[in-house]
Amino acid sequence: DIDPLNICAVTVVPLPGARILPLTPGIDDDLFEHDGQITKRDIRALTLAALAPRRHEVLWDIGAGSGSVSVEWMLSDPSLRSIAIEARTDRAAQITRNAKAFGVPELQVVQGFAPAVLDGLPPPHAIFVGGGGSKDGVFAAAQAALRPGGRLVANAVTLEMEQMLLAFHAEHGGELTRIAVARAAEVGSMTGWRPAMPVTQLRWTKP
Ligand code: SAH
Repeated sequence: DIDPLNICAVTVVPLPGARILPLTPGIDDDLFEHDGQITKRDIRALTLAALAPRRHEVLWDIGAGSGSVSVEWMLSDPSLRSIAIEARTDRAAQITRNAKAFGVPELQVVQGFAPAVLDGLPPPHAIFVGGGGSKDGVFAAAQAALRPGGRLVANAVTLEMEQMLLAFHAEHGGELTRIAVARAAEVGSMTGWRPAMPVTQLRWTKP
């Protein structure tokens, strides 16, 4: 007897060691090559939701680190493009390797410092500031480059970066969200909540 509800479950037994990718953002951190500087999966899922990709759009991922945000942006739909901007050469190379490993080799990597290297890039529909946000001119350049209706999303973990977001918010508006994630972890023979550093997220839509 064939149980029709079970056919898929029977045919999709993964090969041992296969790389299994889910369809939604929030992919496990350790499926990416990273050196600790990565937007963690829960925060990343919320970040992608805030970036709100629509077909054929272009993302600028400023301070791309491992490229995890760009990779998840591109995995959301094959029509999406992303430009990962990263200052460090070793991390820029890491982004290229992650793009290949996740099957999105079209991910464009620009190695250099924002805002200088932003000039002349294709105008974005969405911008994520994951690094470099405290550098003079990054937010101004991002705001200027965004297309009308485009989304700017930035996450702050440090007080210095949070201060930038508060100043931006006071001047231009937008929405501020504070995200606090805790994970259950061993406490001796028991279990307790281990909080991650809280993240302040700014979202702003260009009029
Ligand atoms: N969102 C990334 C993590 C970002 S870590 C991920 O999920 O992997 C922040 C990164 O910003 C670092 O790799 C740092 O080298 C980079 N960075 C800092 N200032 C920058 C600048 N002005 N231009 C480009 N990259 C910058």
